[in-house]
Amino acid sequence: MPGTITEQHAEAVTVKTNGPIEIRELTGAERTVALYASDMPKGRRSTFTSEQYGQWIVQGAKRLGEAEMRRRALYLRGWRVLDMHGLVTAQVQARHEQRFPEGRRLIRSDKGGSLTISVYGMTKTALARNGKVALDGDCPCDGTGWIMLWNDDPDMSSEIMCPVHRRAEIDAFNRARRAGA
Ligand SMILES: [Zn+2]
Repeated sequence: MPGTITEQHAEAVTVKTNGPIEIRELTGAERTVALYASDMPKGRRSTFTSEQYGQWIVQGAKRLGEAEMRRRALYLRGWRVLDMHGLVTAQVQARHEQRFPEGRRLIRSDKGGSLTISVYGMTKTALARNGKVALDGDCPCDGTGWIMLWNDDPDMSSEIMCPVHRRAEIDAFNRARRAGA
């Protein structure tokens, strides 16, 4: 039966598909989308052990395949970054909802994924990939890197850096600000 979980220890949670999927090698968003695609049951009981989440992550990752898992993770991150700034376009929102129709399951997948990060950690290569984003649809900046926020009062209108396309600059700015504080 697909999805049957056999008992195993956390350090042995590795499966062979095209290559081994080791939880530590997955970013936060990759763990989320893998959990979402797994047999993690629906229902009120929303917390499981890190070991159990780990097994579902491996299952979901295997089910999606590495390329699809990474693609979904990048789009999820892209949607999040826009959402954080209240800038999600209708197209990006529609595709996000199509990909993740169950909002509650996505939240639970996030929680489960986060738990495995605190328990198992993350490799350096996964960490380097962790901040990457992609958009499935039009960006509010039209790829220019700048978003105009119009106000009835022209003096209150302003242009902001696109959180997706100017991510590196925004991160550098925040780092510099923290360093100077
Ligand atoms: Zn943009």
